Amino acid sequence: MNSSLLYLDNNATTPLAPEVRAAVLPYLDDAFGNPSSANRLGQQAKEALLSARRNLATALDAAPAEIVFTSGATESNHTAILGALQYFGGQRRHIVASAVEHASTLKLLDWLEQQGTLVTRIAVDNNGNPDLDELRRAVTPHTALVSIMWVNNETGVIHPVETIAEIAKTQGALFHTDAVQAIGKLPLSWRHSNIDLLTLSGHKLHAPKGSGALIVRKGLTLPPLLFGSQERHRRGGTENMIGIVGLGAAAALFAPQTDAPRMQYLRDRFEQRICTALNDAAINGWAAPRIANTSNLRFGRLDSEMLLQRLEQSGVIAASGSACQSGGNAPSHVLRAMGLSSESAMASLRFSLSRYHTENEIDEATARIIRTVRELEQELLSTSTGHF
Ligand code: PMP
Repeated sequence: MNSSLLYLDNNATTPLAPEVRAAVLPYLDDAFGNPSSANRLGQQAKEALLSARRNLATALDAAPAEIVFTSGATESNHTAILGALQYFGGQRRHIVASAVEHASTLKLLDWLEQQGTLVTRIAVDNNGNPDLDELRRAVTPHTALVSIMWVNNETGVIHPVETIAEIAKTQGALFHTDAVQAIGKLPLSWRHSNIDLLTLSGHKLHAPKGSGALIVRKGLTLPPLLFGSQERHRRGGTENMIGIVGLGAAAALFAPQTDAPRMQYLRDRFEQRICTALNDAAINGWAAPRIANTSNLRFGRLDSEMLLQRLEQSGVIAASGSACQSGGNAPSHVLRAMGLSSESAMASLRFSLSRYHTENEIDEATARIIRTVRELEQELLSTSTGHF
């Protein structure tokens, strides 16, 4: 058996791109200056910071001044949500989000609710599409912010963010999107978009962990989460040069027009083969528009944690739920919100591809998954009929 490791968990995190690694190495070494220092090393770092900002701005069709570097998506989400509430000076104390947001948003909203903020969580249908009529009814003149993710990290379902932004605007609310799983895979022209605030994370884009950005629409001044003079007073703290240089180098590699069709071809072939070979396999969110690299499959009544372990023994790495929630054995809140029973949610796994996968690798992963599921089904059958 080919025992090479096949990593299909790129929505949790990605390996560094070789170009990113090469770009950050000097900043682990001699180029250790502080970009706020007037000395030669500081100026070198400042140049690198400018260049990373330019790269990211170009990749998103945004202005460099609209980019605020952060420690990642969790911080960007917090900055957007807490900042939007303060932006309206206490006049608007209502936030609308979807029921399938990432934990970094949902847990903050739970806490805000305990502190007296009004929070509405919009339901999704069986395919994970947010209910836009419910959204229209939910947004009022008291709404400070609508925050709905662009692409769901568990299912890959793509939400219609431009339409959602328009709905938010009808009542003068701001619109924020957690675009962690969209950036680099879906094209974005920030200049032509209606979004006010956009979150992205470096480690989902082959850049280092602990890097990310909040893209802030020109003219919108939110109070910072961390005070200080860096990032034009929008995010204090000495810049994480490794993360920022890495993110800039990763942005220069974005190629959604060529990467997405390739990944979609591999993902569709993967799903088609698995669903043909395994009668009980089905795709969660199959009828919704989905991002090219993600496949969330349920396998009849199998226990996903058991399947995950067996797959890892066979050299395939996948995920149950999102990385941040796995480890516990609660069913995914995303799949439950889509109407799956606890049992079906607990029988589901996420497979997420990267731009670097080859057809051979995906075919090999497919074969190992089919074999492993069949073995487990056999074991289950023999236990339930008392053959063990
Ligand atoms: N939002 C989404 C949609 C994510 O997938 C993740 C990572 N699991 C995050 C936010 C958190 O990102 P970070 O690790 O950069 O804080």
